[in-house]
Amino acid sequence: MKITGIEWGRVSIPLRTPFKTALRTVASVEDIIVKVYTDTDAVGFGEAPPTGVITGDTAEAVCGALEHHLAPAILGQEADDLERLLLRVQSALVHNTSAKAAVDMALWDLYGKKYAIPVYKLLGGSRSRLTTDLTVSVNAPEVMARDAGEAVRRGFDCLKIKVGVDPALDVARLAAVRAAVPADTVLRIDANQAWTPKQAVRILNGMQEKGLNLELVEQPVPAADLEGLRYVTERSDVPVLADEAVFSPADALRILQTRAADLINIKLMKCGGIYNALKIATLAELYGVECMIGCMLEGKVAVNAAAHLACARSVVTKVDLDGPMLCAADPVRGGAVFSGKDIALSDAPGLGVEGVGGVQPIGAAG
Ligand code: MG
Repeated sequence: MKITGIEWGRVSIPLRTPFKTALRTVASVEDIIVKVYTDTDAVGFGEAPPTGVITGDTAEAVCGALEHHLAPAILGQEADDLERLLLRVQSALVHNTSAKAAVDMALWDLYGKKYAIPVYKLLGGSRSRLTTDLTVSVNAPEVMARDAGEAVRRGFDCLKIKVGVDPALDVARLAAVRAAVPADTVLRIDANQAWTPKQAVRILNGMQEKGLNLELVEQPVPAADLEGLRYVTERSDVPVLADEAVFSPADALRILQTRAADLINIKLMKCGGIYNALKIATLAELYGVECMIGCMLEGKVAVNAAAHLACARSVVTKVDLDGPMLCAADPVRGGAVFSGKDIALSDAPGLGVEGVGGVQPIGAAG
């Protein structure tokens, strides 16, 4: 199965409500969809959400990486030769992890299609269902309480609460949310790097003293401040999950070796795809550290790929794959079924995606 062409285009999916974090406010998911063609009928699908504030990848950067580096790296190559091809993707250029992830997942998709096996089974997985949390955007406490109540009515029993905008309000935000949901609702919070280390310890301990019962806190301090991350991990009762601090397997290893965090968040868009995500999962296993599988604000092609990875590795114990549930529409045919908190993988070959509607073509090669 030879790779004969690659196309990319843009799709825009409206959100149910604006998505607000300490880093940004957005009203729609803007994604780059990638299709990799072969000399057979098989087509591999990939997706890259340009998330400049986290990955540094803009839409233009994703398209430039595809056109000038990734397309030349895979065109004319044998899709069968998967590992060599995945390495060509990773070494085609530095950074640009979102564009690499889109091509990486399309290659896994093709390989699974060639051998008529779903990717999660190809990777040795035996579970095919996941339960995701739902994100509540950062807002005034009463708005967040209302949104959390609405999420519980939609069937979610685990909520990820965004905090960190005007940190003085964060304890009040969590108190309002906690009061608005059943006592057994799991609450995890994400500060998206907004706090200083001392501020983080003060806020987290304040939340625990109020009995707000947090499962974990995601990336309390700036990504580059590993000392600060470890400071919080050592002094807070709330388990600390490293998100923006972990892009590559090497980043994960550094955090694991220094015990700078209790948990690691794996996202395909940070690490460049399934190939590197598997390495991070293996490193975490070696250190006895559990992982979350997360996503950017992204559509179903990429979140579906992340779900396949998660189903293949038991070290992934926490699931934050709510991208499709935040969207008001789903242009993707095939792949996993997302229904409330439940994600049910398709047993179709590869990643199971059959098509994406409404894609505006941008570029092609081959
Ligand atoms: Mg996060």
